[in-house]
Amino acid sequence: MKSEAQVVVIGGGVVGCSVLYHLTKAGWTDVMLVERLELAAGSSWHAAGGIHTHNGNVYLVDLQRYTVELYPELERVSGQDCGIHLTGGLQLADSPAWMDWLKTVHARGRYLGMDTELISAREAAEIFPLMDPSLFVGAMWDRHEGHVDPSGVVRAYARAAEVGGATVVRNTMVESLSQRADGTWDVRTNRGDIHTEHVVNAGGLWGREVGRMVGLELPLLAMAHQYIVTGPVPAVAEYRQSKGKELPTVVDFGGEIYMREESGGILLGTYEQDHKPWSPRATPWSFGSELLPPEIDRIAPELEAGFTHFPALADAGIRNIVHGPFVFAPDGNPCIGPVKGIRNFWLAVGVMAGFCQAGGVGLALANWMTEGDPGLDVWAMDAARFGDWATVAYTNAKVRENYSRRFKIAFPNEELPAARPLRTTPLYDRYTRANAVWGASFGLEVPLWFQDPGSEPVEKVTFRRSNAFPVVAAECAVVRNGVGMVEISGFAKYRVTGQDAASWLDRILTNRIPPPGRIALSPMLNHRGRLIGDFTVANLGDHFIVFGSGPAEDYHMRWFLSRIPSNAGVEVMPLGQSMAGLSIAGPASRDVLAAVASQDVGPEALRFMDIRTMDVGAIPALVGRLTYTGDLGYEVWVGPECLRGLHELLADAGKEYGIRDFGLRALDSLRLEKGFGSWAREYRPIYGPAEAGLSRFVALDKGDFVGRAGARRESEQGPSRRLVTMVVDAADADAVGDEPVWHGGEVVGWVTSGGYAHTVGCSVALAYVPSELADPRQRFEIEILGSRRKATRQPAPLFDPHGIRMRG
Ligand SMILES: Cc1cc2nc3c(=O)[nH]c(=O)nc-3n(C[C@H](O)[C@H](O)[C@H](O)COP(=O)(O)OP(=O)(O)OC[C@H]3O[C@@H](n4cnc5c(N)ncnc54)[C@H](O)[C@@H]3O)c2cc1C
Repeated sequence: MKSEAQVVVIGGGVVGCSVLYHLTKAGWTDVMLVERLELAAGSSWHAAGGIHTHNGNVYLVDLQRYTVELYPELERVSGQDCGIHLTGGLQLADSPAWMDWLKTVHARGRYLGMDTELISAREAAEIFPLMDPSLFVGAMWDRHEGHVDPSGVVRAYARAAEVGGATVVRNTMVESLSQRADGTWDVRTNRGDIHTEHVVNAGGLWGREVGRMVGLELPLLAMAHQYIVTGPVPAVAEYRQSKGKELPTVVDFGGEIYMREESGGILLGTYEQDHKPWSPRATPWSFGSELLPPEIDRIAPELEAGFTHFPALADAGIRNIVHGPFVFAPDGNPCIGPVKGIRNFWLAVGVMAGFCQAGGVGLALANWMTEGDPGLDVWAMDAARFGDWATVAYTNAKVRENYSRRFKIAFPNEELPAARPLRTTPLYDRYTRANAVWGASFGLEVPLWFQDPGSEPVEKVTFRRSNAFPVVAAECAVVRNGVGMVEISGFAKYRVTGQDAASWLDRILTNRIPPPGRIALSPMLNHRGRLIGDFTVANLGDHFIVFGSGPAEDYHMRWFLSRIPSNAGVEVMPLGQSMAGLSIAGPASRDVLAAVASQDVGPEALRFMDIRTMDVGAIPALVGRLTYTGDLGYEVWVGPECLRGLHELLADAGKEYGIRDFGLRALDSLRLEKGFGSWAREYRPIYGPAEAGLSRFVALDKGDFVGRAGARRESEQGPSRRLVTMVVDAADADAVGDEPVWHGGEVVGWVTSGGYAHTVGCSVALAYVPSELADPRQRFEIEILGSRRKATRQPAPLFDPHGIRMRG
């Protein structure tokens, strides 16, 4: 066995083999895969092999399509049969709500390049005659679905990697990992040590155990999953005979089952409602390529539904039951990427649909390792989306919730209850008493809106406007007409100190660093000049505080830490919940602050984008003059031990102005009517700063900074698309994000956020459209729940277009 390699990939399942293949494709050939048993010995060999491109998250659709389209190439390069069956697939809706959901998926598919079609239940029954059409209301047909041979695919990836120069070592167990002072790794196996630059954890069922070798507790849990294969079904044989082809794959959401043809019968699987984690704390190393004993009782309700919805199956009998474990992250998406603070240790774990996703995961990780950037928008599967708060118990509760909801409708305004409350701020009890309707972001409870006294603080889930609508309207009105107060503790904050702090910030951010006492907005770019962050930088004289998106805290910390040269005099410290805050906004906010502040906060003393330390009442605070509402307003930052006192103080001082708490739903509405973008919606690594309308915060002439060449190129050539605000002629449903934008009978763009702009009284959407169409005279339509609604581009913000309120 080799004792040196540039990369050691641990795990010969579909994911590890794909990473290995993609590394060779990217030109790294001194790469080695170590598998403790045979290839595919973990979850991979007993998968049902189903492949499809659709995903609830639009950013995973590209990745899945890439995976599905890769199989012919794999066969060519490896000479190994992958057993590709592209049969097409049906998704069956048994209720109008499911049909609404299919309409949104179909609409998104228009700009994602998917080839889907909405059809009636009757038409579906012509495609899949085993179903009883009277039990369904409609369906979506997707040509890019089918199945592959799981073991064949794993062998094909491994063989193709070997053709590219990689080494695959079987029956070799990685027992421990240790890192040398120079950052390289010693990989200890039962057959000797391997010295390597990079280690990839593709341990699948044992991903947690491999993580523990370097002190990581990864948010992963295996679930025990079952599918049956029926005996021969005469209707299957008849279909083959009459059509000369295989039956398509089927997902029946109401029955919570998936199906495909198998050996003259039907393979029928289910995400059991009576679900069961497998080996919740540790996966035994003694577990090999075996299956779990069948537990038919756990799937009895879904089987019964299956036999009713597909009567042809009722008498077929069960030929075989496959019961095996596979691994999930709390939200069901993969966990990939580098790990904050552990150099050259990479994750490719939590891939729950390996045959749909492993190709894209391998491509992204190989890009990341070889070029420093994944090359795709991988935010949805970046391991950094979970912080240290994602404990074993949190993961257990969330994975179970996610598993049992696999075939449930995901409503855009839905908040899921498992593992909550986990992180709360000192205002939690106070807000609960004020009838807050809670949401969770990065594990932190955040008030979405405040229900009227006496009514239940619950938001009804729907694709249309919910019961929150009138209450959020009232919260917005209070801000625009008087003063409102919102908690902002959920923002990420980083303290940047040291003699090189300013020059370091100047190098990693695009804007000029503000002078002492001032705040500046600044995007952050990757090396390709694409957006990877959007910050507010406050210069406090002897140090800086950088404010950013809360859910991106670990993502940004990882980037910051990897960009600090070893000899630099700079330290970046995430402040988490050690710094808490409230924002007051609206025309009366200055009067409220003036009543309690120890300093003059008049328009000349505390100008727009000024920041000062001052006492607010008796509380030491940091007060900045800006708000995300786009109104006159302030952010007041304090230690968490002072937050309740601050809330009480501002509430008392604001009484005479009718102050009221407002939540994130109102904040979203207020920022939409100002056309303010937000991280992970308008600002993502697929966009450049000029496209996103952030050019004024990119100081191309200030000297070099990361991403400058790309930003300059974008600025010189002009952006190919632009972020625009549109007013939508909506009915009872607003755009929420991911809807297609039509122009001249074609889909030309997509919505990134949408909602109702309560104080200007219209439905609004932020969307990316081609630059040549970003003109107010152009007529657009936005497709909402299957209906194309007229949309008009706005040349200026809908509220306070000249920023007079904000700056005044
Ligand atoms: C019943 C069932 C049906 C499924 N159906 C589908 C489907 O239809 N479509 C789909 O896309 N997905 C399906 N899946 C999911 C799919 O099987 C997984 O997504 C996929 O197998 C994950 O692959 P992996 O490489 O991450 O993990 P694994 O296959 O578990 O591979 C990990 C490998 O790492 C090795 N390893 C771990 N630790 C070490 C170590 N220390 N040293 C050396 N080697 C090590 C293990 O031996 C193992 O071979 C199904 C799963 C199940 C259980």
